Amino acid sequence: MICFLSMEVCGFTFEELGDWLEQAGEKRFRAAQIFDWIYRKGVLSFEGMENLSKELRKRLAESLRFPLLKLAAVQESDETSKFLWELSDGKRVESVLIRSFDRRTVCLSSQVGCPARCAFCASGREGLIRSLTAGEIVEQALHIDRFLKEKGERVCHLVYMGMGEPLENYDAVLKSIRILNDERTLHISQRRMTVSTVGIAPEIRRLAEERLFVNLVLSLHAPNQHFRKKIIPFARKYPLEEILSAMDFYAEKTRRDITYEYTLLSKINDQEEHAIELASLLRGKQCTVNLIPYNPVQGLRLERPDRANVCAFQKILESRGIRTTWRYTKGDDIAAACGQLALQKPSGLTNFGATS
Ligand code: SF4
Repeated sequence: MICFLSMEVCGFTFEELGDWLEQAGEKRFRAAQIFDWIYRKGVLSFEGMENLSKELRKRLAESLRFPLLKLAAVQESDETSKFLWELSDGKRVESVLIRSFDRRTVCLSSQVGCPARCAFCASGREGLIRSLTAGEIVEQALHIDRFLKEKGERVCHLVYMGMGEPLENYDAVLKSIRILNDERTLHISQRRMTVSTVGIAPEIRRLAEERLFVNLVLSLHAPNQHFRKKIIPFARKYPLEEILSAMDFYAEKTRRDITYEYTLLSKINDQEEHAIELASLLRGKQCTVNLIPYNPVQGLRLERPDRANVCAFQKILESRGIRTTWRYTKGDDIAAACGQLALQKPSGLTNFGATS
């Protein structure tokens, strides 16, 4: 049974749109035409879908919500662009486009605010405001792909690492993955999609059973449960052993390597003893630790460790056989880096629906 409650065209899978059209007394093949207009031709109003009858266009416009996002602001730096979207209820979220050589990655938000309330993060400061719908997630990628197309480029990677905890909005996130992976939409390979979580153990196991091949990243940030609860208040919900066991299960089921992210906060979790404990926690696991020196957030009294500290931390992990990467921070000059996304005030809205 398909739920048509949301009635967002970008929240429909191809099959669901076909079902909806059939129930509305229309031909099922119209779904292919509508997907083609939206995802290939980048037309963002039913009015512009010229091979549909006037009557159907009118009916679609009256029944389906599209587009859902208005562009409130764009900030650009050399390698990143940050997009602030206004949603139909006036709430705001951000997405980030990251350019790295020929790779174009979009960092998607899955919620307004975030329930995890990580100590170093701007997005979590107000807690969870609401979850996004599948259509609102899909449209972030769609609009940025359209923006890139004008420059002859395409979105090729997606990371669910913007505002929100994706596994707390499981159904909408999963649906957006399926929609964006569809060859009739942006057709982004699942292997080029990454979901980042603070660790919702049952949902990690559920995701492992979905027969998907998306990459999974655990935001670890501390080498033990006691310490982790202080950095990620949400971590109280699940013991670390339970989360790590779920991550192992995911790796085994999907044959994907696991990444553990560790935000380094000066004099808090970046000391030698933390690196030694972390190496021991992850010993024997097929994984990579991604070290992220903290990105400053206004109003938070936390500091980024200096380069020498990060190198020393990395050296300890690697000397104990833990593969480690160190993320070069992109976008911190426009507050688009990890943990810096926050709800900004817009400066003039661009309604994508006005363009076709
Ligand atoms: S870092 Fe991620 S999980 Fe933590 S509060 Fe921010 S958005 Fe939520």
